[in-house]
Amino acid sequence: MSNGQITTRYIKLLQSIHKEGGVPCERLPDLFFPEDLGSTELRATATKAAKALCHSCPILDACYEYAVETDQRHGIWGGTSPEER
Ligand code: SF4
Repeated sequence: MSNGQITTRYIKLLQSIHKEGGVPCERLPDLFFPEDLGSTELRATATKAAKALCHSCPILDACYEYAVETDQRHGIWGGTSPEER
């Protein structure tokens, strides 16, 4: 996928977020990148919490598809960790 295609996909994802009036990860962005946290326990707790928030997100499926199609290798996207995508 080219950078232009990735940008187009990202813009579509942002439009979906805007249409829904926001998504849970906007309020706690650090939680959705647990690999940046300092301890194994913190990473596990953040991962579980982020996934739970994703499951209440109105664009869960679109977010997951974006992450897979654009090969996102960091963070929780669409309720999944990098290892699960
Ligand atoms: S599904 Fe995507 S957009 Fe929704 S809260 Fe999770 S990471 Fe954020």
